Amino acid sequence: MKYGIDIGHNCPPDTGARGIRKEDDMTLDVGTKVASKLKALGHQVVDCKPSRAWSVGNSLQQRCNSANANRVDRFVSIHFNAFNSKAKGIEVFAASNTGREIAKPVLDNLVELGYSNRGVKDGSHLYVLKNTAMPAILVECCFCDNQEDMDRYEAEALANAIVKGLTGQTPSTSKPEEQKSALDLQKALNRLKIRSPKGSPLPEDGSIDDETKAATKTFQAMVGVTPTGIGGPTTWQVIDQILAMPVLRENHASGSIVKYLQRRVGSEADGIFGPGTAAAVQRFQQQQGITVDGIVGAQSWAKLLA
Ligand SMILES: [Zn+2]
Repeated sequence: MKYGIDIGHNCPPDTGARGIRKEDDMTLDVGTKVASKLKALGHQVVDCKPSRAWSVGNSLQQRCNSANANRVDRFVSIHFNAFNSKAKGIEVFAASNTGREIAKPVLDNLVELGYSNRGVKDGSHLYVLKNTAMPAILVECCFCDNQEDMDRYEAEALANAIVKGLTGQTPSTSKPEEQKSALDLQKALNRLKIRSPKGSPLPEDGSIDDETKAATKTFQAMVGVTPTGIGGPTTWQVIDQILAMPVLRENHASGSIVKYLQRRVGSEADGIFGPGTAAAVQRFQQQQGITVDGIVGAQSWAKLLA
């Protein structure tokens, strides 16, 4: 089965709701996990989220175009709700009978996590459901402005429920420390352009040697993780977050990923994307000969990563 996975928003000016947590962060987290779990089960996945758009309408249109051009069998759009901080629970939208048949087990699996069941709803007014040519659903994975929903929020559990609902198969829970090999670590560090003490890329030979340990420590210190020299779950979480290449812009990003960015573009590494970081990103963009907008999108990531 070929799935079009549409990670909601994350494409300025198409940005999500902001509550106790940001919708953008959660759709990215859940959507990325859904995609990798589907692939692990042997399905094909098309990432429908565009890397840039000039308007919200254009962002939505590109998502539908990706799904239609790639002739995916199912289109799944992932969102989080926001209303009045009181409303809570999960609802799944569909605009056709087949869509409703797909929506039902997804919703059933999600509410098993303890969320209120708001039902399968008519989504014929929703752009991405109206303009995709295949059966499509839009999942509103609980309310980002409701405390109870956010206390229960766990990306891994939501992703497992969505995948189970879509496929009927039980996805494996990722345990990065078990699944990632030394070779994965060397490849990832090379993509991140983290060099060995000799200043060269790491040999991709799958052995955890002193060079790889030193480069791992360099990376960990850079992003504010305890420099153990071992690629544990915390380190992999940061690596995976960076390699997902999310759009980063002023006042809308913070944490380890921003520290990595700051060290790469030569601004103070405080982990907050403020005006100083935006200025450093602009200098970087100018040096690289790409669009100078201070926003880290696909073009900048292409220059930052190998
Ligand atoms: Zn949304």
